[in-house]
Amino acid sequence: MENKMTTLNEVRVRIAPSPSGNLHIGTARTALFNYLFAKKNNGKYVLRIEDTDLERSSQAYIDNIYDSLKALGLNWDEGPDVGGPYGPYQQSERFDIYPKYAQKLIDAGYAYECFCTQEELDAEKEESIKNKRPHKYSGKCRHLTEEEKEKLRAEGRKPSIRFHVPEGETSYDDMVKGHLHFDNALIGDFVIMKSNGTPTYNFAVVIDDMEMKISHIIRGEDHISNTAKQIMIYNALGAEVPKFGHLGMILAPDRSKLSKRHGATAVSEFVEKGYLTEALVNFVALLGWSPSDGHEIKTLDEIAADFRINEVSSSNSIFEYDKLNWMNGQYIKKMDLAKLTQLVKPYLSCYDLSEYTEKQLERIVEVTREPITILSELTNDTKYFFGKDVEIEPDVQEKILNGEVAKKVLPYVIENELDKWDFEDEEKLHEQLADLRTYFKEQHGIKPKETMWAIRAAVTGRTHGADMVATLVLLGKDRVVYRIKKAV
Ligand code: GLU
Repeated sequence: MENKMTTLNEVRVRIAPSPSGNLHIGTARTALFNYLFAKKNNGKYVLRIEDTDLERSSQAYIDNIYDSLKALGLNWDEGPDVGGPYGPYQQSERFDIYPKYAQKLIDAGYAYECFCTQEELDAEKEESIKNKRPHKYSGKCRHLTEEEKEKLRAEGRKPSIRFHVPEGETSYDDMVKGHLHFDNALIGDFVIMKSNGTPTYNFAVVIDDMEMKISHIIRGEDHISNTAKQIMIYNALGAEVPKFGHLGMILAPDRSKLSKRHGATAVSEFVEKGYLTEALVNFVALLGWSPSDGHEIKTLDEIAADFRINEVSSSNSIFEYDKLNWMNGQYIKKMDLAKLTQLVKPYLSCYDLSEYTEKQLERIVEVTREPITILSELTNDTKYFFGKDVEIEPDVQEKILNGEVAKKVLPYVIENELDKWDFEDEEKLHEQLADLRTYFKEQHGIKPKETMWAIRAAVTGRTHGADMVATLVLLGKDRVVYRIKKAV
């Protein structure tokens, strides 16, 4: 089995999520870097669903993985749903493939049946702990004779299959981490097939990567310790070892593992909160990679053109939620208005959107998007556009509407202005309001901005918000008249 085939001349990478949860933002980063590497090298990007742990896997999580990757624009060339030349691409449909490779390893002396019970294994472990030795399996089933095995089988024991770790060391050049080597003496013979006939992760992943002709494996550095075992299996099978690249971990701002207590962690959670997928992709690209021109806001295509795996940082990256918010805000500001309006609608579902035409809704989004960082902020920021009545903030009532300026400005507006104001034409209304400000400044010494505060307070119940002229035109005459009269 020493003859190494050189079959990996085409760049083929994969993302291999386990569907035991919604797609994690860290897995999205791994998917992205694989996607970028494939694009950069005219390669193929494969999706494989690793659902050998049937109890923890679910179709809902598989669907979430599909939806999240698609939403991010990380569409795969081969996968369970689109097929491809090396399928099936879902491990639970490949269960009949693994035993024959395990048998091949047994026949060639690289693996053996292990009949140890869990109790026996636990006892071995306790013994190591007692003697303060690092624990590894003793290898006691390595030398069982056929007769001994038959006897154990007759007792009803079902064997697992263990890989016989050779002496020496295992080393390789990691595309990100550089040269790495492992002392095989520290690695115990590990299980490749469980006694229930299902493969372990380390075995299934090698068989699948080999059969799917994966040339480069880019994944999180939490898998480095598995890599030595995987290389041993490739070598035992006489298969070409793919190139590995291990990305630093993504840590929370407090440098602990990113988890729910820090905020959203699943891509779908970020999307629900109102992050744009374009911003998310851009942001996760910067977790370990930096653009050559220093400009951080980049489309997926621009990132792909600039991406080099050997320039990816080997250290951990910090997931700065503040930076993501800033970046999302940048995307919200420049996004196509019609598209943004569609994305915003779910956040306005508590309002009666039929009060406005599509064009007017776009205008509402246009005049409120400037300060926001996530779309969900628009639920509150657009509130005063809906309904006849408006909620007046207590502070606004006290400081503005009960004040002297409002008492002069608002009755005057009702008496002399509202009938003249042009609610059809923003430009005209703009001029009319300018005249009103001048009048109060000249006649009553009221600062122009105070005049506007009084009107804004009456109409929106707030001190800040969208452009006043646009707000008045959108609300329309009836509603403005009603609100100002009510305020007085
Ligand atoms: N299913 C593994 C995971 O989700 C894949 C690891 C690998 O890329 O080899 O961590």
